[in-house]
Amino acid sequence: MIMKMQSNNPLLFITLHCLLVLSASQDFDFFYFVQQWPGSYCDTKQGCCYPSSGKPASDFGIHGLWPNRNDGSYPSNCDSSNPFDASKISDLTSKMQSDWPTLSCPSNTGITFWGHEWDKHGTCSESVLNQHDYFATTLSLKNEIDLLQALQGAGIQPNGQKYSLSSIKGAIKGASGYTPGIQCNNDSSGNSQLYQIYLCVDSSASGFIECPVFPNGSCGSSIEFPSF
Ligand code: AMP
Repeated sequence: MIMKMQSNNPLLFITLHCLLVLSASQDFDFFYFVQQWPGSYCDTKQGCCYPSSGKPASDFGIHGLWPNRNDGSYPSNCDSSNPFDASKISDLTSKMQSDWPTLSCPSNTGITFWGHEWDKHGTCSESVLNQHDYFATTLSLKNEIDLLQALQGAGIQPNGQKYSLSSIKGAIKGASGYTPGIQCNNDSSGNSQLYQIYLCVDSSASGFIECPVFPNGSCGSSIEFPSF
């Protein structure tokens, strides 16, 4: 048997097999680490409902860690055989509730939101991060760069005033060393407001990098930072 495999060049077979597995399982170049200003989710027509644990802190909350490609496209829903299983992150629940809060209606515990994020995005990076590590790694990324502190340190407060887009980017770049992508949405009166902040993480999820490509942020040059 061994002799037969050797004559069929097992090294070539193994190399090709590894390449195939790698290309099938890691179809992305980097991650977007996306945080969201809850005030800008809640004052849109989507509305918001707080979970039974109460109103989330007046701070940026995690939206997700999204595998992305350098051409701007991204994979999604990559493995239906590995659905979200809340029991795998039971040790992270209280940190998830504070740092990755759900705001969707009707109010729920967060399981629906976290499950959506795992099923849509997490399953596309499972070659790098298993389900527990996907959430644990994302939580620890939030600890590394305090976005609200970076903005407030530059005099940019969630007080309903308008700030220039360049001052917001500059404050985050100055505090973290990395240029963020900024995404806006419109409040019920149609004002452009700070909705989500994107930072980039290398494909092994080991640290921040400069973004290879930025999302289309749809922001004006001056945007509102609503209170929450
Ligand atoms: P995604 O598909 O990962 O781009 O996430 C978008 C979906 O997540 C939409 O259905 C949003 O309404 C929902 N969503 C965004 N932020 C939150 C949040 N804080 N809580 C619950 N659902 C959210």
